[in-house]
Amino acid sequence: MEIIRTVEWMKQIARDARAKEQILGLVPTMGALHEGHLSLVRAAKLDCTQIAASIFVNPKQFGPSEDLQKYPRKFEEDAAALEKSGVHYLFAPDASEIYPTGFRTSVTVEGWSDRLEGRSRPGHFKGVTTVVLKLFEIAQPQRAYFGRKDAQQLAIIRRMAADLNLDTQVIPCPIVREPDGLAMSSRNAYLNSDERRSATVLYRALNAAKKAIEQGETQTACLIETMRKIFSEEPSAALDYAEIVDAETLNTIPHLRKTTLALVAALVGKTRLIDNAQIEETSEGFSVQL
Ligand code: AMP
Repeated sequence: MEIIRTVEWMKQIARDARAKEQILGLVPTMGALHEGHLSLVRAAKLDCTQIAASIFVNPKQFGPSEDLQKYPRKFEEDAAALEKSGVHYLFAPDASEIYPTGFRTSVTVEGWSDRLEGRSRPGHFKGVTTVVLKLFEIAQPQRAYFGRKDAQQLAIIRRMAADLNLDTQVIPCPIVREPDGLAMSSRNAYLNSDERRSATVLYRALNAAKKAIEQGETQTACLIETMRKIFSEEPSAALDYAEIVDAETLNTIPHLRKTTLALVAALVGKTRLIDNAQIEETSEGFSVQL
């Protein structure tokens, strides 16, 4: 595996891969890798001939009071895990390489970037879309792999790719969970043992909504109430939002639609966690993917 620190070098590799008609898959990450990230690499290996992963803790997606400085960084371990998983190129630039002096340009998906996560984290998605567009331009991947764990991020990136006619196909991948249901996240490392136990409340709330849907409930107000109730019984977690939206538009809806997202965000101690479930209408009713 080759470690690449500069934009120019990564661009040259991308040009060579295109010239050789290789299919380059990109897995963008912020490092502190876990099985969720490695599942994206595995998905990329199924349909690409060359795999690039990036590790870049993007300062522009962190708010002034967020955890940029203390975000976990484990470069050596991450590089070893990526190499073992079959990654060919690890793009790991410094912030000054991505945002040189004088940098002023950004891209925003209007309307969607200030809802849900965006309401609590102003500017977050502008930082995400800007860096993802740059990574797509630098690495020129035919395919890029993103986790459904960050469902709003995925929706926003797909919208950006469609709106800007990007040459990269955005591939969604399932959420990887711990045995007790907690969605894997680099931020889980912040949790102490009591918080770690409480943190399953996000999964438990979504699971309660899933059970209610399987019993025929389709009114989103009732489903939201079901999720809120689970949070109210877990005082060590402070619910930020429990919402149900149309997966196509991210608008709130009174009843489940063809494709719907149930999303939750909460603070457990000082750690902000998110999770979601994907709800789809099938010929046999609604099916819920956690
Ligand atoms: P991050 O390093 O947190 O920016 O995440 C990099 C990529 O990994 C994003 O596409 C995430 O959605 C994805 N990811 C993070 N956690 C998980 C998980 N538990 N399951 C699946 N994908 C994940």
